[in-house]
Amino acid sequence: MTEVSLLDHALVRLDEAAAHLNIDADVIEKLKYPRETTKVRLMIRMDDGSRKSFIAWRCRYDDTRGPTKGGIRYHPDATEDEVETLAFWMTFKCAVMNLPYGGGKGAVQVDPRQLSKAELERLSRSYVKAFSRIIGPDRDIPAPDVYTNAMIMGWMEDEYSQIVGQSSPAVITGKPIALGGSLGRGDATARGGYYLVRHLASDLGLSDTMRVAIQGFGNAGQYIASLMAADGHKIVAASDSQGAVYSPNGLHVDLLLEAKAQGHSVASTIGQGGHEHLDADKLVGADCDLLVPSALENMIHEGNAGSVKAKLILELANGPITTEADEILAKKGVVVLPDILANAGGVTVSYFEWVQNRQGFYWTLEEIHDRLRTIMEREGRAIWNLSREKGISARTAAYVHALGRLAEAIEAHGTQN
Ligand code: GLU
Repeated sequence: MTEVSLLDHALVRLDEAAAHLNIDADVIEKLKYPRETTKVRLMIRMDDGSRKSFIAWRCRYDDTRGPTKGGIRYHPDATEDEVETLAFWMTFKCAVMNLPYGGGKGAVQVDPRQLSKAELERLSRSYVKAFSRIIGPDRDIPAPDVYTNAMIMGWMEDEYSQIVGQSSPAVITGKPIALGGSLGRGDATARGGYYLVRHLASDLGLSDTMRVAIQGFGNAGQYIASLMAADGHKIVAASDSQGAVYSPNGLHVDLLLEAKAQGHSVASTIGQGGHEHLDADKLVGADCDLLVPSALENMIHEGNAGSVKAKLILELANGPITTEADEILAKKGVVVLPDILANAGGVTVSYFEWVQNRQGFYWTLEEIHDRLRTIMEREGRAIWNLSREKGISARTAAYVHALGRLAEAIEAHGTQN
Protein backbone atom coordinates (compact mmCIF):
# COMPACT_ATOMS: atom_id res chain seq x y z
CA MET A 1 0.00 0.00 0.00
CA THR A 2 1.43 3.40 -0.91
CA GLU A 3 1.48 5.95 1.84
CA VAL A 4 -0.75 8.98 1.34
CA SER A 5 1.29 12.17 1.48
CA LEU A 6 0.48 15.18 3.62
CA LEU A 7 -0.15 17.10 0.40
CA ASP A 8 -2.66 14.49 -0.83
CA HIS A 9 -4.50 14.89 2.46
CA ALA A 10 -4.49 18.67 2.09
CA LEU A 11 -5.78 18.42 -1.49
CA VAL A 12 -8.97 16.74 -0.24
CA ARG A 13 -10.05 20.25 0.82
CA LEU A 14 -9.62 21.46 -2.73
CA ASP A 15 -12.02 18.85 -4.08
CA GLU A 16 -14.51 19.54 -1.30
CA ALA A 17 -14.50 23.24 -2.12
CA ALA A 18 -14.72 22.68 -5.89
CA ALA A 19 -17.98 20.78 -5.38
CA HIS A 20 -19.60 24.05 -4.24
CA LEU A 21 -18.36 26.19 -7.13
CA ASN A 22 -18.90 26.11 -10.83
CA ILE A 23 -15.28 26.24 -11.93
CA ASP A 24 -13.26 24.89 -14.79
CA ALA A 25 -11.38 21.60 -14.33
CA ASP A 26 -8.24 23.50 -15.49
CA VAL A 27 -8.30 25.49 -12.27
CA ILE A 28 -8.14 22.39 -10.12
CA GLU A 29 -5.45 20.87 -12.33
CA LYS A 30 -3.33 24.00 -11.83
CA LEU A 31 -3.75 24.01 -8.06
CA LYS A 32 -3.05 20.32 -7.55
CA TYR A 33 0.73 20.52 -7.93
CA PRO A 34 3.42 22.89 -6.66
CA ARG A 35 4.86 25.04 -9.42
CA GLU A 36 8.45 24.56 -8.28
CA THR A 37 10.27 23.13 -5.30
CA THR A 38 14.01 23.59 -5.02
CA LYS A 39 16.08 21.44 -2.71
CA VAL A 40 19.66 22.27 -1.75
CA ARG A 41 22.26 21.14 0.72
CA LEU A 42 23.60 23.95 2.87
CA MET A 43 27.20 23.51 4.07
CA ILE A 44 28.18 25.54 7.06
CA ARG A 45 31.28 25.88 9.20
CA MET A 46 30.61 24.93 12.82
CA ASP A 47 32.26 26.80 15.69
CA ASP A 48 34.69 23.91 16.27
CA GLY A 49 35.98 24.23 12.70
CA SER A 50 34.16 21.19 11.30
CA ARG A 51 31.69 21.35 8.44
CA LYS A 52 28.09 20.24 8.63
CA SER A 53 25.43 19.99 5.94
CA PHE A 54 21.68 20.51 6.16
CA ILE A 55 18.90 19.87 3.64
CA ALA A 56 16.87 22.96 2.77
CA TRP A 57 13.90 23.65 0.51
CA ARG A 58 11.96 26.53 -0.94
CA CYS A 59 8.63 25.84 -2.63
CA ARG A 60 6.74 28.34 -4.78
CA TYR A 61 3.37 26.65 -4.94
CA ASP A 62 1.32 29.06 -7.03
CA ASP A 63 1.95 32.64 -8.12
CA THR A 64 -1.24 33.42 -10.03
CA ARG A 65 -2.34 36.12 -7.58
CA GLY A 66 1.10 37.67 -7.07
CA PRO A 67 4.58 36.92 -5.74
CA THR A 68 4.72 33.79 -3.60
CA LYS A 69 4.64 34.41 0.15
CA GLY A 70 5.35 32.24 3.15
CA GLY A 71 7.64 31.53 6.05
CA ILE A 72 10.82 29.51 6.53
CA ARG A 73 10.70 26.77 9.15
CA TYR A 74 13.71 25.34 10.98
CA HIS A 75 12.76 21.92 12.28
CA PRO A 76 14.54 18.54 12.57
CA ASP A 77 11.49 16.73 11.12
CA ALA A 78 10.95 19.07 8.14
CA THR A 79 10.33 17.23 4.85
CA GLU A 80 9.73 18.20 1.23
CA ASP A 81 6.14 16.96 1.44
CA GLU A 82 5.53 19.16 4.48
CA VAL A 83 7.04 22.23 2.80
CA GLU A 84 4.84 21.75 -0.27
CA THR A 85 1.76 21.26 1.88
CA LEU A 86 2.50 24.39 3.89
CA ALA A 87 3.01 26.28 0.61
CA PHE A 88 -0.37 25.01 -0.64
CA TRP A 89 -1.99 26.31 2.55
CA MET A 90 -0.24 29.69 2.09
CA THR A 91 -1.73 29.92 -1.42
CA PHE A 92 -5.21 29.55 0.03
CA LYS A 93 -4.49 31.69 3.10
CA CYS A 94 -3.41 34.67 0.98
CA ALA A 95 -6.49 34.25 -1.21
CA VAL A 96 -8.78 34.02 1.86
CA MET A 97 -7.48 37.41 3.01
CA ASN A 98 -7.42 38.84 -0.54
CA LEU A 99 -3.72 39.68 -0.26
CA PRO A 100 -2.01 40.16 -3.65
CA TYR A 101 0.17 37.10 -3.16
CA GLY A 102 0.53 33.49 -4.16
CA GLY A 103 1.78 30.88 -1.72
CA GLY A 104 5.23 29.58 -0.88
CA LYS A 105 7.18 28.05 2.00
CA GLY A 106 10.69 27.08 2.95
CA ALA A 107 12.40 24.90 5.51
CA VAL A 108 15.74 23.70 6.79
CA GLN A 109 15.94 20.26 8.35
CA VAL A 110 17.74 21.29 11.53
CA ASP A 111 17.22 21.51 15.26
CA PRO A 112 18.16 25.18 15.76
CA ARG A 113 18.42 24.64 19.53
CA GLN A 114 21.57 22.60 18.87
CA LEU A 115 23.32 25.50 17.11
CA SER A 116 25.22 28.43 18.59
CA LYS A 117 24.08 31.93 17.60
CA ALA A 118 27.00 32.28 15.17
CA GLU A 119 26.22 28.90 13.56
CA LEU A 120 22.57 29.88 13.25
CA GLU A 121 23.59 33.11 11.52
CA ARG A 122 25.86 31.26 9.07
CA LEU A 123 23.06 28.78 8.32
CA SER A 124 20.53 31.57 7.72
CA ARG A 125 22.89 33.49 5.46
CA SER A 126 23.73 30.36 3.49
CA TYR A 127 19.99 29.73 2.96
CA VAL A 128 19.66 33.13 1.30
CA LYS A 129 22.82 32.59 -0.79
CA ALA A 130 21.41 29.29 -2.02
CA PHE A 131 17.98 30.69 -2.87
CA SER A 132 18.96 34.23 -3.92
CA ARG A 133 17.64 33.71 -7.45
CA ILE A 134 14.35 32.30 -6.22
CA ILE A 135 13.41 34.89 -3.60
CA GLY A 136 12.90 38.59 -4.33
CA PRO A 137 10.51 41.44 -3.43
CA ASP A 138 8.40 40.78 -6.55
CA ARG A 139 9.03 37.06 -6.79
CA ASP A 140 9.01 35.20 -3.49
CA ILE A 141 8.94 36.80 -0.05
CA PRO A 142 9.89 34.70 3.02
CA ALA A 143 8.94 35.34 6.66
CA PRO A 144 9.27 33.64 10.04
CA ASP A 145 7.64 30.29 10.83
CA VAL A 146 8.27 27.57 13.44
CA TYR A 147 11.64 28.20 15.21
CA THR A 148 12.59 31.20 13.08
CA ASN A 149 12.25 34.80 14.26
CA ALA A 150 12.91 38.50 13.61
CA MET A 151 16.66 38.16 14.29
CA ILE A 152 16.96 35.49 11.59
CA MET A 153 14.89 37.58 9.15
CA GLY A 154 17.28 40.49 9.82
CA TRP A 155 20.34 38.39 8.89
CA MET A 156 18.57 37.13 5.78
CA GLU A 157 17.59 40.62 4.65
CA ASP A 158 21.16 41.79 5.14
CA GLU A 159 22.55 38.87 3.13
CA TYR A 160 20.12 39.46 0.27
CA SER A 161 20.84 43.20 0.22
CA GLN A 162 24.57 42.44 -0.03
CA ILE A 163 24.00 40.01 -2.90
CA VAL A 164 21.88 42.43 -4.96
CA GLY A 165 23.98 45.45 -3.97
CA GLN A 166 21.15 47.56 -2.63
CA SER A 167 19.00 47.82 0.45
CA SER A 168 16.11 45.47 -0.16
CA PRO A 169 13.85 45.34 2.90
CA ALA A 170 10.77 44.17 0.96
CA VAL A 171 12.41 40.79 0.17
CA ILE A 172 11.46 39.41 3.58
CA THR A 173 8.97 40.20 6.33
CA GLY A 174 8.95 39.77 10.09
CA LYS A 175 12.22 41.75 10.32
CA PRO A 176 13.38 43.66 13.40
CA ILE A 177 11.79 47.13 13.56
CA ALA A 178 15.25 48.70 13.14
CA LEU A 179 15.59 47.05 9.71
CA GLY A 180 12.16 48.03 8.39
CA GLY A 181 10.00 45.58 10.31
CA SER A 182 6.42 46.56 11.00
CA LEU A 183 4.95 47.45 14.34
CA GLY A 184 2.50 44.77 15.40
CA ARG A 185 4.06 41.89 13.43
CA GLY A 186 5.15 40.05 16.60
CA ASP A 187 1.69 39.25 17.92
CA ALA A 188 -0.13 39.45 14.56
CA THR A 189 -0.96 35.74 14.20
CA ALA A 190 -2.54 35.55 17.66
CA ARG A 191 -4.16 38.97 17.39
CA GLY A 192 -5.84 38.08 14.10
CA GLY A 193 -7.31 34.95 15.71
CA TYR A 194 -8.36 36.96 18.73
CA TYR A 195 -10.17 39.57 16.57
CA LEU A 196 -11.91 36.75 14.72
CA VAL A 197 -13.18 35.05 17.88
CA ARG A 198 -14.30 38.39 19.32
CA HIS A 199 -16.14 39.28 16.12
CA LEU A 200 -17.97 35.94 15.93
CA ALA A 201 -18.56 35.65 19.69
CA SER A 202 -22.30 36.31 19.60
CA ASP A 203 -22.85 34.10 16.51
CA LEU A 204 -20.99 31.32 18.32
CA GLY A 205 -22.79 31.94 21.61
CA LEU A 206 -19.51 32.43 23.47
CA SER A 207 -19.44 33.63 27.06
CA ASP A 208 -17.40 36.59 28.37
CA THR A 209 -15.35 34.29 30.56
CA MET A 210 -14.26 31.29 28.54
CA ARG A 211 -11.92 28.56 29.72
CA VAL A 212 -9.12 28.34 27.18
CA ALA A 213 -6.60 25.52 26.57
CA ILE A 214 -3.52 26.29 24.49
CA GLN A 215 -1.43 23.60 22.83
CA GLY A 216 2.02 24.91 21.94
CA PHE A 217 3.50 27.89 23.70
CA GLY A 218 5.65 29.51 21.02
CA ASN A 219 4.99 32.87 19.39
CA ALA A 220 1.30 32.29 18.63
CA GLY A 221 0.51 30.43 21.87
CA GLN A 222 2.12 33.00 24.15
CA TYR A 223 0.41 35.96 22.54
CA ILE A 224 -3.05 34.38 22.41
CA ALA A 225 -2.70 33.56 26.13
CA SER A 226 -1.95 37.21 26.92
CA LEU A 227 -4.70 38.60 24.68
CA MET A 228 -7.40 36.26 25.98
CA ALA A 229 -6.36 36.67 29.64
CA ALA A 230 -6.41 40.48 29.27
CA ASP A 231 -10.04 40.15 28.11
CA GLY A 232 -11.01 38.27 31.27
CA HIS A 233 -10.88 34.72 29.88
CA LYS A 234 -9.20 31.96 31.91
CA ILE A 235 -6.24 30.06 30.48
CA VAL A 236 -6.86 26.69 32.15
CA ALA A 237 -4.23 24.59 30.34
CA ALA A 238 -1.06 25.13 28.32
CA SER A 239 1.56 22.83 26.84
CA ASP A 240 4.82 22.90 24.93
CA SER A 241 7.12 20.22 23.55
CA GLN A 242 8.42 19.46 27.07
CA GLY A 243 5.23 19.25 29.13
CA ALA A 244 1.93 20.77 30.19
CA VAL A 245 0.24 22.60 33.09
CA TYR A 246 -3.32 22.91 34.27
CA SER A 247 -5.28 25.06 36.70
CA PRO A 248 -9.09 25.10 36.79
CA ASN A 249 -8.94 28.59 38.33
CA GLY A 250 -6.76 29.93 35.53
CA LEU A 251 -3.00 29.76 35.00
CA HIS A 252 -0.86 32.81 35.75
CA VAL A 253 0.13 33.87 32.24
CA ASP A 254 3.00 36.01 33.54
CA LEU A 255 4.56 32.93 35.18
CA LEU A 256 4.30 31.02 31.89
CA LEU A 257 5.83 33.88 29.88
CA GLU A 258 8.66 34.26 32.37
CA ALA A 259 9.48 30.55 32.17
CA LYS A 260 9.55 30.69 28.35
CA ALA A 261 11.68 33.84 28.35
CA GLN A 262 14.25 31.95 30.42
CA GLY A 263 14.23 29.04 27.98
CA HIS A 264 12.23 26.73 30.26
CA SER A 265 9.09 24.70 29.64
CA VAL A 266 5.65 25.78 30.85
CA ALA A 267 5.92 22.63 33.00
CA SER A 268 8.64 24.33 35.07
CA THR A 269 5.87 26.42 36.70
CA ILE A 270 4.22 23.35 38.29
CA GLY A 271 3.76 23.99 41.99
CA GLN A 272 3.71 27.78 41.60
CA GLY A 273 0.45 29.79 41.72
CA GLY A 274 -1.69 26.65 41.85
CA HIS A 275 -0.29 25.26 38.57
CA GLU A 276 -0.77 21.49 38.42
CA HIS A 277 0.86 18.81 36.30
CA LEU A 278 -0.98 17.70 33.16
CA ASP A 279 0.13 14.97 30.74
CA ALA A 280 0.93 16.85 27.53
CA ASP A 281 -1.03 14.31 25.47
CA LYS A 282 -4.13 15.03 27.59
CA LEU A 283 -4.21 18.71 26.66
CA VAL A 284 -6.43 18.16 23.63
CA GLY A 285 -9.06 16.63 25.94
CA ALA A 286 -8.76 19.31 28.65
CA ASP A 287 -12.00 20.58 30.14
CA CYS A 288 -12.37 23.94 28.38
CA ASP A 289 -14.61 26.02 26.09
CA LEU A 290 -11.98 27.04 23.55
CA LEU A 291 -9.06 24.90 22.38
CA VAL A 292 -6.23 26.66 20.56
CA PRO A 293 -3.76 24.36 18.78
CA SER A 294 -0.72 26.60 18.26
CA ALA A 295 2.05 24.13 17.47
CA LEU A 296 2.47 21.79 14.51
CA GLU A 297 0.44 19.74 12.05
CA ASN A 298 -1.69 16.68 12.89
CA MET A 299 -1.85 17.26 16.66
CA ILE A 300 -5.57 16.47 16.75
CA HIS A 301 -6.05 13.08 15.09
CA GLU A 302 -8.30 10.04 15.02
CA GLY A 303 -6.83 8.88 18.32
CA ASN A 304 -7.65 11.96 20.41
CA ALA A 305 -10.37 13.91 18.55
CA GLY A 306 -13.06 12.00 20.45
CA SER A 307 -11.72 13.35 23.75
CA VAL A 308 -12.15 17.04 22.79
CA LYS A 309 -14.45 18.84 25.25
CA ALA A 310 -14.18 22.33 23.76
CA LYS A 311 -17.10 23.62 21.69
CA LEU A 312 -14.78 25.80 19.60
CA ILE A 313 -11.30 25.30 18.13
CA LEU A 314 -9.18 28.19 16.87
CA GLU A 315 -6.42 26.83 14.61
CA LEU A 316 -3.44 29.11 15.16
CA ALA A 317 -1.13 26.34 13.91
CA ASN A 318 -1.12 25.27 10.28
CA GLY A 319 -2.91 21.98 9.70
CA PRO A 320 -3.30 20.88 13.36
CA ILE A 321 -6.38 18.71 12.66
CA THR A 322 -6.24 15.66 10.38
CA THR A 323 -9.04 15.01 7.87
CA GLU A 324 -10.24 12.03 9.95
CA ALA A 325 -10.30 14.11 13.14
CA ASP A 326 -12.21 16.86 11.34
CA GLU A 327 -15.06 14.42 10.68
CA ILE A 328 -15.12 13.23 14.29
CA LEU A 329 -15.24 16.83 15.53
CA ALA A 330 -18.00 17.78 13.08
CA LYS A 331 -20.13 14.87 14.35
CA LYS A 332 -19.61 16.10 17.91
CA GLY A 333 -20.76 19.59 16.85
CA VAL A 334 -17.40 21.23 17.55
CA VAL A 335 -16.92 24.40 15.47
CA VAL A 336 -13.45 24.78 13.94
CA LEU A 337 -12.19 28.19 12.84
CA PRO A 338 -9.74 26.94 10.19
CA ASP A 339 -6.04 27.78 9.93
CA ILE A 340 -6.20 29.54 6.54
CA LEU A 341 -8.47 32.11 8.19
CA ALA A 342 -7.70 31.84 11.93
CA ASN A 343 -3.92 32.30 11.70
CA ALA A 344 -3.89 34.60 8.66
CA GLY A 345 -3.20 37.66 10.84
CA GLY A 346 0.53 36.89 10.57
CA VAL A 347 0.77 37.02 6.81
CA THR A 348 -1.62 39.99 6.73
CA VAL A 349 0.72 42.11 8.86
CA SER A 350 3.60 40.73 6.74
CA TYR A 351 1.76 42.24 3.78
CA PHE A 352 1.51 45.56 5.66
CA GLU A 353 5.26 45.38 6.32
CA TRP A 354 5.99 44.81 2.60
CA VAL A 355 3.70 47.70 1.62
CA GLN A 356 5.42 50.02 4.13
CA ASN A 357 8.88 48.94 2.87
CA ARG A 358 7.90 49.68 -0.71
CA GLN A 359 6.38 53.06 0.02
CA GLY A 360 9.04 54.01 2.59
CA PHE A 361 6.34 55.39 4.88
CA TYR A 362 5.52 53.68 8.14
CA TRP A 363 2.22 53.29 9.97
CA THR A 364 1.43 53.58 13.68
CA LEU A 365 0.57 50.54 15.77
CA GLU A 366 -3.00 51.76 15.92
CA GLU A 367 -3.21 51.88 12.12
CA ILE A 368 -1.82 48.33 11.90
CA HIS A 369 -4.33 47.02 14.43
CA ASP A 370 -7.25 48.82 12.76
CA ARG A 371 -6.37 47.51 9.32
CA LEU A 372 -5.83 43.97 10.61
CA ARG A 373 -9.13 43.99 12.51
CA THR A 374 -11.02 45.32 9.47
CA ILE A 375 -9.69 42.60 7.15
CA MET A 376 -10.09 39.81 9.73
CA GLU A 377 -13.70 40.80 10.40
CA ARG A 378 -14.56 41.27 6.73
CA GLU A 379 -13.19 37.94 5.51
CA GLY A 380 -14.23 36.12 8.70
CA ARG A 381 -17.79 37.37 8.36
CA ALA A 382 -17.97 36.42 4.67
CA ILE A 383 -16.77 32.89 5.46
CA TRP A 384 -19.06 32.50 8.45
CA ASN A 385 -22.10 33.62 6.43
CA LEU A 386 -21.15 31.31 3.56
CA SER A 387 -20.90 28.36 5.95
CA ARG A 388 -24.37 29.10 7.37
CA GLU A 389 -25.95 29.68 3.95
CA LYS A 390 -24.60 26.50 2.42
CA GLY A 391 -24.70 24.40 5.58
CA ILE A 392 -20.98 23.60 5.29
CA SER A 393 -18.14 23.73 7.80
CA ALA A 394 -16.21 26.97 8.27
CA ARG A 395 -13.20 25.14 6.80
CA THR A 396 -14.98 24.21 3.58
CA ALA A 397 -16.42 27.73 3.41
CA ALA A 398 -12.92 29.23 3.74
CA TYR A 399 -11.69 27.03 0.88
CA VAL A 400 -14.71 27.96 -1.26
CA HIS A 401 -14.09 31.65 -0.53
CA ALA A 402 -10.41 31.39 -1.51
CA LEU A 403 -10.92 29.06 -4.47
CA GLY A 404 -13.41 31.49 -6.03
CA ARG A 405 -10.71 34.19 -5.99
CA LEU A 406 -8.01 31.86 -7.27
CA ALA A 407 -10.25 30.62 -10.08
CA GLU A 408 -11.04 34.17 -11.13
CA ALA A 409 -7.34 35.03 -11.28
CA ILE A 410 -6.40 31.82 -13.13
CA GLU A 411 -9.12 32.46 -15.71
CA ALA A 412 -8.12 36.13 -16.06
CA HIS A 413 -4.59 35.06 -17.01
CA GLY A 414 -6.07 33.58 -20.20
CA THR A 415 -6.02 30.17 -21.72
CA GLN A 416 -2.62 30.19 -23.46
CA ASN A 417 -0.25 30.37 -20.50
N1 GLU B 1 4.60 31.55 8.73
C1 GLU B 1 3.39 32.32 8.83
C2 GLU B 1 2.23 31.53 8.27
O1 GLU B 1 2.25 30.32 8.21
C3 GLU B 1 3.55 33.71 8.23
C4 GLU B 1 3.88 33.76 6.79
C5 GLU B 1 4.20 35.16 6.28
O2 GLU B 1 4.11 36.11 7.05
O3 GLU B 1 4.55 35.26 5.10
O4 GLU B 1 1.20 32.08 7.95
